[in-house]
This record gives sequence, structure tokens and C-alpha cells, in this order.
Amino acid sequence: MIVAIDGPSGTGKSSTSKAVAAQLGLSYLDTGAQYRAMTWWMLTNGIDVSDASEIAAASGKPAIVSGTDPEAPAISADGADASGPIRTQEVTSAVSAVSAVPEVRSRITELQRTIAAGAEGGIVVEGRDIGTTVLPDADLKVFLTASAEARAARRSGELKDKDGKAVADLAATQQALAQRDKADSSRKASPLKKADDAVEVDTTELTLEQVVECVVTLVEQ
Ligand code: C5P
Repeated sequence: MIVAIDGPSGTGKSSTSKAVAAQLGLSYLDTGAQYRAMTWWMLTNGIDVSDASEIAAASGKPAIVSGTDPEAPAISADGADASGPIRTQEVTSAVSAVSAVPEVRSRITELQRTIAAGAEGGIVVEGRDIGTTVLPDADLKVFLTASAEARAARRSGELKDKDGKAVADLAATQQALAQRDKADSSRKASPLKKADDAVEVDTTELTLEQVVECVVTLVEQ
């Protein structure tokens, strides 16, 4: 059972995918974390991420290793735990440019296909191009959407300081998400796009539990 869950940022892909995988006893792969780990490795190794040819030349170097346990997703680059650093603003701002480079995409797509093929019992893979490019034969393809306001509210709600206080400004978050989605949808190499045979689920008015239930029902159909 291979489930592909795609969609723009802030639609609830990660929370939904992890919960569906945990509930159905499947593995889980966060492909955004792989692009983020590649970006983090480049930033920490002096690669100029505004230069596509430098990115392409370095794209084969780091070992990117993903854990597939939905209860404890893990990601490392060249043996260093990347799970914290990949969520920084610096990585978030650079990741679309790095992931637009075809050499990066082909390297990471190959890793994704190897992980999916080796996942005993099945896997939930979340990303932007899973249903269209990485795993076009997935048993179920879901494309999550939500209004720009709902996506920004969710994303900014996730950004808290150590005292649990929200740190993000809603308007700034909405603008940053719009910019990243525009870059991800307009790049030449496998852009963010709904597969023709994907089921679209608008999560704007739904709770996480409702989205999970909807996807689990689709898997069981
Ligand atoms: O899902 P997440 O927000 O962590 O993804 C980070 C970035 O990685 C996306 O904005 C996009 O540029 C890239 N990405 C991609 N293809 C995927 C998953 C993520 O290009 N399948």
C-alpha cells in the first residue's frame, strides 16, 4: 500500500500523513525534510545557494538518511542529526531554490523511490510531486488544499518561543507561504501539482482528526 499525500505548505500534510501511517501501521516519509536537509548541508558547507550550478555540483555529496517511523521521524545529513536545523528560517527561505535544481531532484527522487520500494507493508509519502513524479503508480493519491488564511494561521500557530508564546506575524507568514508556493509551483522540474487521479481534500474547515479519518476511509475503500 503506497499512499501519496501532496499539497502546498500549511495544509496539514505532515500531521495527516504521520497520523494515517501510525493508525494503519505503515511507514512514513517526509520528503520536504529531505530537501531541507540537503539545503541545510549546503548552507553549512559554504555552497552558494543562489548559484544553481554550484548547487548541482554539490548535490551528490551529502548522505541524506531518513527514518520512516511515523512516531519518531528522523533525518540526517552526512551523519549529523538535521531534524532541528532544517526547521530554521534560513533553511525555509533557501529550500525552494535548492529543490528547483534538477540534479537535486533526481538525486532525492531516487532516494525516495528506494525507501518506498523497501517499506514492508507500505508507506505514506508526503510532498509536492509524489503523485505526479516520484510514485505515479501509488495506490492512493491525496492532494490537500486549504485557504491561504487557514494555512498561514496553522503555520504561525506552530511557531512558538520557549514560553509557548506565538512568535510569527500572521501577515508575514501568509506572504512567506505564498512566495514559497509560487516558487514550488512555477519551477520547471516536477512542480507542485495535483495529479489527475488524486483525490482533492479541502482542509480549511476540517479538524486534523476529520482529515485523518477521511484519508483512512479512502485507503480502506
Ligand atoms: O514540506 P516542506 O514545507 O517541509 O517542504 C520544504 C520544501 O521542499 C518545499 O517548499 C519545496 O521547495 C521542497 N519540496 C519539493 N518536493 C517535495 C517536497 C518538498 O520540492 N516532494
